[in-house]
Amino acid sequence: MRPVEIVEVGARDGLQNEPELVPTHTKIALINRAIGAGIRRLETASFVNPHRVPQMADAEAVMAGLPETKDVIYIGLVLNERGAERALATKVHQLGAVAVASDTFAMRNQGQTCEDSVRIAKAIVSKAKAKGRSAQVTISAAFGCPFEGEVDPARVVTMAKALAEAAPCEIALADTIGVAVPSQVTALVQAVRTVTGDIPLRAHFHNTRNTGLANAWAAYEAGIATLDSSFGGLGGCPFAPKATGNIPTEDLVYLLSRSGVTTGLDLDQLIETGVWLTDMMGRALPAMVSRAGNFPPPLSLTA
Ligand code: ZN
Repeated sequence: MRPVEIVEVGARDGLQNEPELVPTHTKIALINRAIGAGIRRLETASFVNPHRVPQMADAEAVMAGLPETKDVIYIGLVLNERGAERALATKVHQLGAVAVASDTFAMRNQGQTCEDSVRIAKAIVSKAKAKGRSAQVTISAAFGCPFEGEVDPARVVTMAKALAEAAPCEIALADTIGVAVPSQVTALVQAVRTVTGDIPLRAHFHNTRNTGLANAWAAYEAGIATLDSSFGGLGGCPFAPKATGNIPTEDLVYLLSRSGVTTGLDLDQLIETGVWLTDMMGRALPAMVSRAGNFPPPLSLTA
């Protein structure tokens, strides 16, 4: 079986919708725990307008508190050139730009039209490269828009083709609001791949309608080698009403490892972090494996 790389997005996508400000040291602890469990690429912060997303206002402080490392890639999410400049002034290794597949969502999320978002994402990729860093682009709302409904797959393909011209290190398809189903994932991955050449694809799912893990498996079977997830299934989007958490890292790794797909992650440590995060957030989180436990259980529990 082909291995899968998991990109942990809990410290950014997971936390950005939390109404209570999470202390900087807790974010840093979450990132360090992720690295301890084997995560080698993760979203650490988002360099967006702090008035619009107050939870991410401490992006620079989070970055300053992280260990210097060559084995782990820190991703900073940026929506415009100003954000890119902020991120590039920190130890972020990779910029994550966002192009949005619907005009209404693009306007609400980042004050851009769909077309602007593609142009700006390309400029962000060039800016990162000029500074010796890498950059990838996520096509957000690729499977549906909270305001406009269905998104034409042809539009996503056109966007992917335009983005590929800037040669980002990766292009991601994101089901930002959790509406996709597996057949749609298979079809869109296949269609997008015809225009992206050898640029690797990544997939990003939310579990709003409980199809997230099924979609992740469909993406894997369609040839995707990198999946996003967040500890505990934390997450949401401040600009997408009713969108809920990312697919949970613990649940995804359980699914993959029991299916013989390696991720390089230690599930017991992931579960421990899921339990720790539940304590930190002070409420039950959507992930199920951290509640039910690993299987088979340790021998001492089976007697
Ligand atoms: Zn997301």
